[in-house]
Amino acid sequence: MDKFRSQIIDIVDKGRLGQGLEDDEILQLYSTDPESPEAFYIMWAGRQLQRQAANNIAEVHAQIGLNGSPCPKNCQFCSFAICNGVRQGKLEMPLQDVLEYIKIYQEQGANAILMMVTATYKFEKLLEMGAAARAVMDKELPLLANTGDMSLEQAQQLKAAGFNGCYHAVRMGEGVTTTIPVERRLETIDNIHAAGLSLSTCVEPVGPEHTPQELTEKTRICINSGALSAGVGKRIMIPGTMLAKYGQLNNLVAGRNVAVYRLAAGLKPRLNCAGGTDLASAMGANLAWAEMGTNPRDTEERTEKGGRGVDIAFCKKVFNDAGWDVLEGPSPGWILD
Ligand code: SF4
Repeated sequence: MDKFRSQIIDIVDKGRLGQGLEDDEILQLYSTDPESPEAFYIMWAGRQLQRQAANNIAEVHAQIGLNGSPCPKNCQFCSFAICNGVRQGKLEMPLQDVLEYIKIYQEQGANAILMMVTATYKFEKLLEMGAAARAVMDKELPLLANTGDMSLEQAQQLKAAGFNGCYHAVRMGEGVTTTIPVERRLETIDNIHAAGLSLSTCVEPVGPEHTPQELTEKTRICINSGALSAGVGKRIMIPGTMLAKYGQLNNLVAGRNVAVYRLAAGLKPRLNCAGGTDLASAMGANLAWAEMGTNPRDTEERTEKGGRGVDIAFCKKVFNDAGWDVLEGPSPGWILD
């Protein structure tokens, strides 16, 4: 056996113990040829460790995009970014529609619900939407927010309005292909924790141009973030966006990446997200997102109407087809005191 192959096998076998990996080891796993036998050993091991971490149970979380107005933060991968010129004019969901989405998701059996807004959405309005949603939601069903960077006071206001957690990430290319400094993202993550909110995060959006070094760096940030869900999500190529020229990762690379994340992080957190691709689910991702309303990965006004948004039944089928059971009822652990 050649030296490189035996090194990869040793690293994977260490990762299979569930204690996590060092940065240099993570880097080697992300550097493997996705078509190689070593990559398939990584994917097998990632899947087995994920099944152990989550007792073979997957979850489907449900996103509602509340607005789609052009956003000055100019993240070059996002359909809302002004620099991409994909979206025009103000677009906001009325409360009545948001509550209808909540009703649909509860009936379909979402394990958690998330409200997504762009950085231009009025914070007070998000608080109002959250409070109105919370009033009609099952008390045990987690309500999360995906919003712009925020102060501790704002994070506390989210909690008071009835949100239980936030999605927040230091994205690939942060500060280079976005206008937001990494430090600002990290401050917000600290504020989320300090306010008593749970955190959902991810290494995303990963494109073909990203190096194993950056994947390793962002993986370490995710591992250190104290999140209840993490993983590695590939970027969806949106025609017209500045990063569209790089194309999109194939599902084999996405599957290898999600398996690497599992081995890198050890047994926690139990939820490993990869955007719900079939192969990533087979290789160990156990968190997928249903999507309705606006969507930064889409150009439709309502992603569920002819866009890329999928419903909860679709996500459950992907998981069942990949050998996962799917949780019935609210996702545990998100509602903190
Ligand atoms: S990712 Fe968020 S902050 Fe960045 S442009 Fe899109 S909506 Fe704005």
